[in-house]
Amino acid sequence: MELEYFTSREKELLGQRYEALHTPLEAAPARGLTVNGLRPGARAAVEGCGLALAPSPFCPQGCRLTDPAQRPGLHPYHKAGVYYLQEPSASAPVPLLGVEPGCRVLDLCAAPGGKSSQLASALSGQGLLVSNEYDPARAAVLRGNLERMGVPNALVLNETPDHIAGALPGFFDRVLVDAPCSGEGMFRKEPQAMAQHNPGLVAQCARRGAEILEAAARCLAPGGRLVYSTCTFAPEEDEGQIGRFLSLHPEFTLEDCGASFGSPGEENRLCGYAADVSRMRRIWPGQGGEGHFMACLAKSPDAPAEARSGKGRPKREKPAKTPPLWAEFAARYFPALAGERALEAGGRVYILPPALPAEALAGGLRVMRAGVLAGSLSKGRFEPDHHLFMVWGAGCENREELTLADERTAAFLRGEEIEARTAGAGYCAVLVDGFPLGFGKVSGGKVKNHLPKALRNLK
Ligand code: SAM
Repeated sequence: MELEYFTSREKELLGQRYEALHTPLEAAPARGLTVNGLRPGARAAVEGCGLALAPSPFCPQGCRLTDPAQRPGLHPYHKAGVYYLQEPSASAPVPLLGVEPGCRVLDLCAAPGGKSSQLASALSGQGLLVSNEYDPARAAVLRGNLERMGVPNALVLNETPDHIAGALPGFFDRVLVDAPCSGEGMFRKEPQAMAQHNPGLVAQCARRGAEILEAAARCLAPGGRLVYSTCTFAPEEDEGQIGRFLSLHPEFTLEDCGASFGSPGEENRLCGYAADVSRMRRIWPGQGGEGHFMACLAKSPDAPAEARSGKGRPKREKPAKTPPLWAEFAARYFPALAGERALEAGGRVYILPPALPAEALAGGLRVMRAGVLAGSLSKGRFEPDHHLFMVWGAGCENREELTLADERTAAFLRGEEIEARTAGAGYCAVLVDGFPLGFGKVSGGKVKNHLPKALRNLK
């Protein structure tokens, strides 16, 4: 019954264009994947791995999945972070942000991590990605996905946008707000989104989106760029939200998205505010994706500096001492990491991104992961972690090299011990066609499986 509100609103706003732009809700949803730029050779591997693919108009790294019967989430390349399953239109906002290696980037609403993974690819391991998720359970999923994708330079937070703005005001060159929304573009993918939809939800999401945008604006450095996106069509969450924000923030201008896909924003969705909708971008279901709205906002280089409002002042960072057991392990297995900035905290060793500032760790923020978890120190020994191998496994000195055709690949993913053919005794990275799946420990010609239990393929 509530769908009546959605369909009658859309028919009224779109008139004769309704049928062409909103394809039937019963149709199969568009599916896609985005290739991970952090895995060298990923594009060619994806194209040759048996998945039925077509190019995506929304993002150069995106592909449409054209065979609804295929299950790409079970493919070994998915486990190896060669690609991220992402609805095609959801890949469109990140390229608009213009992220370059070395930028400081904030993804404020990041779980499960599709857009953070794209941002990490654009950074190529340089600079810093702060990837935040408000919901604790979803933040854990985000951490797992960034681990799978081999991201070396992320700070994963479980915070409110307000706290981040208080701790790191004006810190970021780029901010993405992929707002929690009423999800009208999810109706075909998640029937629950349809069942929960009502006008009150739209109003509530619009208010929350406005609050998140305020915090995002404080996080952004003068001269920086912010992209706001939703997967809904509701006027007050889209064009109206941007119009309202611009009316309150003269220090921001609306930039042209400069995109050739989809269509411009819609004048009759501005909710009475004034803004140039031709600079905004929409993707409708009739244009090959489930639906996305996006707008690019630039903060004036002359905007006043934002004040810090977190708890106290950040503590001065003590010079980190490399834990000797880690240094010994690194010298044997990862000599290229021996000089990296390592931090020991609570018996765990982290390799920190050089661009991570002291405020980020000392500002009272709830940190889910800082950089790469190399491993833990226990009973006078260093035990490496899955994360280390997912990021740098291809460069490990001791490797068990598998291929898609090798039956040991599926066995390893099931958590079984496999025969060692290329790795010598000790810890080893386990790779499929050169992409990391995890690690094991070789002894007596066998690789003992160290794949975390939660990641094992039990089917
Ligand atoms: N960007 C993600 C991706 O590409 O995988 C999808 C993000 S989803 C559209 C929006 C996220 O915002 C959800 O994970 C939701 O839990 C989170 N969220 C909910 N309430 C929030 C709040 N008050 N502030 C920030 N984020 C919130």
